[in-house]
Amino acid sequence: MSLLAAHNLTKQYDEKDSLFTALNKVNLSIEKGETVAIVGKSGSGKSTLMHLLALLDTPSDGTISLLGRDTGKMSNKQLDRLRNKAFGFVFQQFFLNANNTVLDNVILPLKIAGVGKKARKEKAMKVLEDVELADKAKNKAKDLSGGQKQRVVIARALVNNPTVIFADEPTGNLDSATGRKIEDILFNLNKQHGISLIIVTHDHELASRCQRRIYLKDGEIVREERK
Ligand code: ADP
Ligand code: MG
Repeated sequence: MSLLAAHNLTKQYDEKDSLFTALNKVNLSIEKGETVAIVGKSGSGKSTLMHLLALLDTPSDGTISLLGRDTGKMSNKQLDRLRNKAFGFVFQQFFLNANNTVLDNVILPLKIAGVGKKARKEKAMKVLEDVELADKAKNKAKDLSGGQKQRVVIARALVNNPTVIFADEPTGNLDSATGRKIEDILFNLNKQHGISLIIVTHDHELASRCQRRIYLKDGEIVREERK
């Protein structure tokens, strides 16, 4: 059974006196453990597709199934719980809380999930070790470099043992050497823990590391490549 299956997925946005179709009848399935890049020019609908797949937004038409269950039939509460349990996010708009410590930022999803104080601290420290930032646990997030912040975002995405990590331009604001390190962390997670990766990127080198590349143009899938 597919991890995620989109059927005729369509998203329209209201414009002044018409509708703008950002995504047009997209069909796509993603298997457990797969690494998938979503590629395309700016405005092609990549983020729109990613937000729909991540169940952060609802489609105008079409369906998304998660492990065979139609997510359109779930309540908001069920969706919130599901996202918190199964998904990790590496999005630029999900900033860290700048004035909180690194540790508190990483702990947040566990707090939401109701994990006890001691256990959540242990888990958070463990993932901070995985991204080699345990020594910065007590620092404020705002005092870190760009690459370190991005590693904290990954640690936070990881802390709930997600089934899938969604990343929207995860290396977009980083120099290429730091970007490669961030990529290595993500692909190691895939290899070692079977976490699926769905990555929106402009970066062809990053896209080429994924098992599949899906090319979007004007809201439609125009091409697909597999390794
Ligand atoms: P990409 O991530 O590939 O750059 P997006 O998915 O962000 O593209 O956007 C696809 C198209 O939908 C763009 O033309 C964008 O202007 C439009 N769009 C995205 N979000 C909205 C919104 N909330 N309201 C209106 N139009 C939007
Ligand atoms: Mg985008």
